[in-house]
Order: sequence, then structure tokens, then C-alpha cells
Amino acid sequence: MSSQIHGKAAQYFEQQKELYGSNIQLDEKLRPDRNFEKNSKSALLLKSFYEEIKDCQLCSLGSTRTKFVFGVGNPDADLLLIGEAPGKNEDIQGEPFVGRAGQLLDKILDSIGLSREEVYIANVLKCRPPNNRDPLKTESDTCKPYLQRQIEIIKPKLILALGRISGVWLTGEEMSLGDMRGKTFYFGDSELMVTYHPAALLRNPNWKRPCWEDMQKVRDRLKELTTKTSIS
Ligand code: URA
Repeated sequence: MSSQIHGKAAQYFEQQKELYGSNIQLDEKLRPDRNFEKNSKSALLLKSFYEEIKDCQLCSLGSTRTKFVFGVGNPDADLLLIGEAPGKNEDIQGEPFVGRAGQLLDKILDSIGLSREEVYIANVLKCRPPNNRDPLKTESDTCKPYLQRQIEIIKPKLILALGRISGVWLTGEEMSLGDMRGKTFYFGDSELMVTYHPAALLRNPNWKRPCWEDMQKVRDRLKELTTKTSIS
């Protein structure tokens, strides 16, 4: 029995080491239980907005998608994460970041004490581009008002762009990921930061460490932004 427990603990630490290097993250099992208001104004607005746009056929992706991937999470989230576009699994399940990259994203969130239920997660595009090709400018321009409206409803204090495509879309600047990381931008009233896309971390594990450093900054800034508002 005790050797089984040791085995499981060792496996867990190995996983954490692989993700975050030697700076091991422990789960905060004592994290307060956060229940969200399912009928808040934002929740109701998002629900009716989803009903309004879920059958969208404004671009050709409407005819190749399986499911429309609106977004998921807490409608009153302080942190909004924005990826690029649904992939194969997301297209099947209708939820962003549910494949391998999504599992890594859950671990990244966990490393700063957050879960996917506490934040909101969406993509620049609501429908999967065939063979996961990069979104075309016409597609992201057509889809833009949808994400803009979601941001208006959620009013996140901080937006985190995942990857260059999302960063360029949100900043409106043709910059490299390296030039966007570590800087603070704005999207409307929300602060905006940019980090690696989790799929890039799967391809290049050397980027996990700098991503972890970005996430520490996200955690600290989020804390500052949420504390400031609750005092004022
Ligand atoms: N990659 C993304 O950018 N978004 C998803 O939802 C899944 C993978």
C-alpha cells in the first residue's frame, strides 16, 4: 500500500518536473470553493448571445465545422484566455481546449491556483479551419465581432492571449511572440498579456519554463487588479 502511494507521488512529481522544471508546483487542495452565479447578468447575456450566433454561416467554415465552439467558463471571470481556433477534438465536442493542448492548459492554470471553471476560455475563431490551418484574415475579421461582444459582456480585468495569432489579433500589431511577451497591452478596458500557445509547448518543451515565468506575472497582476477593485 505505502509503496503504491510512493509510486503515485513519484509519478506526480515527475509530471510536475516535466511541466515546470525543478520548480515543483503543489496543488492547492485547500483552495476556497468558488461557486459562480449561474444566473448573473453576464451569464444570461452570454447564453442569449450564444443562441443568436450558434448557427453562423457568415464564412465558409460554417459548412465544414462539426460544432460551433462558443467558449466556456465563468461568465464573470477576471481572467479571459484566448486561443486561436478549435482543433479536431474541440470541433467534435464544441468546447475550447479539450485535446492534449487543453490538458496542458489546465495544468498551466493549476500552477497559478486557477481552474478552467474559474476563468473564461475562447478562441479568435469559433469554427475549426480545415486541417487546422492558420485562420485566414477574412475569417478572423468576420468572427471578430463575436469575441468583441463576449469581451464586452464578461468584462475581464485581464486577457491572456495564447500564442502569436491571438496576440496579433488582440493587439492589432504584427509582432513576433518574443516581442509581445512580457509587455502589457490593452484591449478595450481590459489589460492584455501574451504568452505561448500550449500546443507550442507540446512541440517544444524548452518553452515551458518561460511560459511558467509568464504565468507568475499573470498571477501577480491578476491579484493586483482584483485587489485594487475590491478596495475602491
Ligand atoms: N488550440 C486553440 O487555439 N484553441 C483550441 O480550442 C484548441 C486548440
